[in-house]
Amino acid sequence: MLADYAVCLEGSRGRRHPEPKHAYRNDFQRDRDRVVHARAFRRLDSKTQVFTRRYSDHFRNRLTHTLEVAQISRTVAAQLGLNVDLVEALALVHDIGHPPFGHAGEKALDTAMREHGYFFDHNLHALRIVEDFEIRYAAFRGLNLTFEVREGIIKHSRDYRVEQFPELEEYLLDKKPPLEAQLIDLADEVAYDTADLDDGYEARLLSLEAIRAGVPVFERYYRDVEQIYPDAIEKLKFNEAVKRMLDGMVSDLIRNTGKRIEESRIRSLDDIRNCPHRLASFSSGVEKERRETKKFLFANLYFTPVLEPEKDDAERITRELFNFWMEQPESLPQSYQEKARQEPLPRVVCDYIAGMTDNFIYDQWEKYCRGK
Ligand code: MG
Repeated sequence: MLADYAVCLEGSRGRRHPEPKHAYRNDFQRDRDRVVHARAFRRLDSKTQVFTRRYSDHFRNRLTHTLEVAQISRTVAAQLGLNVDLVEALALVHDIGHPPFGHAGEKALDTAMREHGYFFDHNLHALRIVEDFEIRYAAFRGLNLTFEVREGIIKHSRDYRVEQFPELEEYLLDKKPPLEAQLIDLADEVAYDTADLDDGYEARLLSLEAIRAGVPVFERYYRDVEQIYPDAIEKLKFNEAVKRMLDGMVSDLIRNTGKRIEESRIRSLDDIRNCPHRLASFSSGVEKERRETKKFLFANLYFTPVLEPEKDDAERITRELFNFWMEQPESLPQSYQEKARQEPLPRVVCDYIAGMTDNFIYDQWEKYCRGK
């Protein structure tokens, strides 16, 4: 049973190119399946989240991270009576626009673009992927996703102003996105805050002592675990504490969002869209803990000197390849050379690089830039 404020199929604004209904899969389920079958989705498997494979084969990459976000989002959506099919499609597509080499790659690509008067934004890039770059169907270009999925791609993590992005006007930029889209960003937070503690501990970049001292919410759960399993080995106590932390954040998100829906007297999807602020959120207590956790991860993991050389390499490889193709566009693949006749060259080079996996960009750099 869907809540009154959930996105329902009957209310969908539909696809750009109308299609006959499927016999037993609804439109949001079909969108989810189209995302899973997209080439850009498969490539998430070889894209860095935080760590490259140098540290271990056990770590998350963007694909496994995406699956964790989908699992968390489904749980939250079901509890709030939201449209789980739409939420699943949005979660699976949420990171599809990320370039290789995680944030270092994104930063390098954005810097290179700004030198030519453009910029790189992974949400806008994701929209270009599903609208234009994926070529799988004879009847149309792109995946021909429903309006609600395209809107969620753009609006799940931030608001865009129509004065600055007139090309996005159709996505109701003066209104808030449905709760289905709002909760993706928070599920993303839950997934990577806990996963990065886990991977950081596993990589021995974070010690148990440092986490206990620097992440109060972890410390609280760890003490509980020590009471229940005093004889368990450290690694298992660690896992139990991280698991409780994840569950605590998810439960708080469900509870607090439900409470805000009540307090704001939300009765319909329009009420959600017209509400001056987003309604999906953690309680102030958990929000404070989340910020503490993030601060700890920034100081001790994302900006640890140990990962610096790797990030420097990522930025240098991205920048050098970008400059190489700007100077020698005749070395781009044929299809991109053709695109460059219709679109600005920096945009075409950026699109090409953003689609690459960590392995492929490295191979390209070896081929064109190494030793030059
Ligand atoms: Mg993510």
